[in-house]
Amino acid sequence: MSTIFSQIVEGEIPARVVYEDETTIAFLDANPLAPGHTLVIPKDEYERLNDVPDDVAPDLYAAIHQLVPAVEDAVDADASTVAFNNGAEAGQEVPHVHCHIVPRFDDDRAGPIHGMFAETGSIDSESLEDIATDLSETELDDIADGIESRV
Ligand code: 5GP
Repeated sequence: MSTIFSQIVEGEIPARVVYEDETTIAFLDANPLAPGHTLVIPKDEYERLNDVPDDVAPDLYAAIHQLVPAVEDAVDADASTVAFNNGAEAGQEVPHVHCHIVPRFDDDRAGPIHGMFAETGSIDSESLEDIATDLSETELDDIADGIESRV
């Protein structure tokens, strides 16, 4: 069964669409955390960020890049929180990758995303080094190769 967002893409359920191109669409969130709360999605259904194909991901980012200042301007926001709940354990309810652009205001008292966690973690420098080494030896080389192959 297709996600509720695919049904929006297909025009089967209504939404306040604010942007659309060949691969990407943006619409206002039906339960906004703030006025102007906007969702940006790839039209095709991918559950998580890492499922979005290489040739679609740049379009998604380009739309976000353009929409963040436009959304802020539209509601006269002071700033914005831009976030993906990437996976059910991170709070993703709709299994169709979507970027939240949430306008923020000086007096909204919502705080930073760090507020999701009860306390700031502490980690020793050896563990930090191990994680950085693991990442730089594997994933980041793959990322660089992937980016180079696209340019
Ligand atoms: P998630 O928790 O998956 O990151 O966020 C899903 C978002 O989709 C929520 O902010 C929710 O308000 C929004 N949403 C859910 N159903 C609909 C809908 O039918 N239309 C619109 N415009 N937004 C929806």
